[in-house]
Amino acid sequence: MSERTIALVTGANKGIGYEIAAGLGALGWRIGVGARDRQRRETAVEKLCAAGTDAFGVPLDVTDDASVAAAAELIAEQAGGLDVLINNAAITGGMPQTPTTVDPSTVRIVVETNVIGVVRVTNAMLPMLRASASPRIVNMSSSVGSLSLQTTPSIDMGPVPVAYLASKSFLNAITIQYAKELSGTGILINCGCPGFTATDLNGFSGVRTPQQGAAVAIHLATLPDDGPTGEFIDDAGAVPW
Ligand code: NAP
Repeated sequence: MSERTIALVTGANKGIGYEIAAGLGALGWRIGVGARDRQRRETAVEKLCAAGTDAFGVPLDVTDDASVAAAAELIAEQAGGLDVLINNAAITGGMPQTPTTVDPSTVRIVVETNVIGVVRVTNAMLPMLRASASPRIVNMSSSVGSLSLQTTPSIDMGPVPVAYLASKSFLNAITIQYAKELSGTGILINCGCPGFTATDLNGFSGVRTPQQGAAVAIHLATLPDDGPTGEFIDDAGAVPW
């Protein structure tokens, strides 16, 4: 293993993922920029490198088994291992999206990307993470996935896309199960909520900057060895499941 910390950020070509890559790069880490589109990936890598980050491109479509397997091979070859995985890539599936009107194909692709994609990438990277001295996995979730908040009558989440919301509830549940299975291995796995952030995901209607949205992931990526696992937090602390 390299003495430098190696991280992979999925969906790192723009938005919060790009700022997570920049923030971890500023710590002196080597960053794999996971992105599916070649042009967008190369542009992001160039921009990160110009700003001083040691970034390398990782072709990665989280919905594609072969792409994910190839990404793991590329990281092993180019970086010699992996310490930190940030599962950031996600889609909403578009709006409007209510339970009674949503197209099942929308639900399918949202779950495929936001949940199965996380399982696919995590399990492909696990052999390298298990070999790391301080492995961390960060799953970018959302407070809209909180069943507690969804069922609090006084909380109005507004018009949230239903498949997206449910995919984050699913992701939260899966994260808890990973934390239980990986307990005692040294791998810390947590969910982070970036807050309502101005990105493509919401037509730039969010109120936080992508840099602010990235802060929770950077915090969870840099947890000490005795840090928490199986938790769901935002910048203000615990988010109810
Ligand atoms: P974004 O700007 O839309 O970026 C999403 C990223 O995911 C893009 O790089 C996109 O790549 C990538 N992606 C989508 N599908 C992919 C696939 N199949 N394979 C690989 N990459 C894929 O969104 P964001 O706001 O930064 O969101 C980042 C994370 O924060 C997501 O998990 C989101 O759910 C979460 N979050 C965001 C907010 C918010 O207010 N923005 C709030 C709560 C949680 P392309 O450019 O190729 O599409």
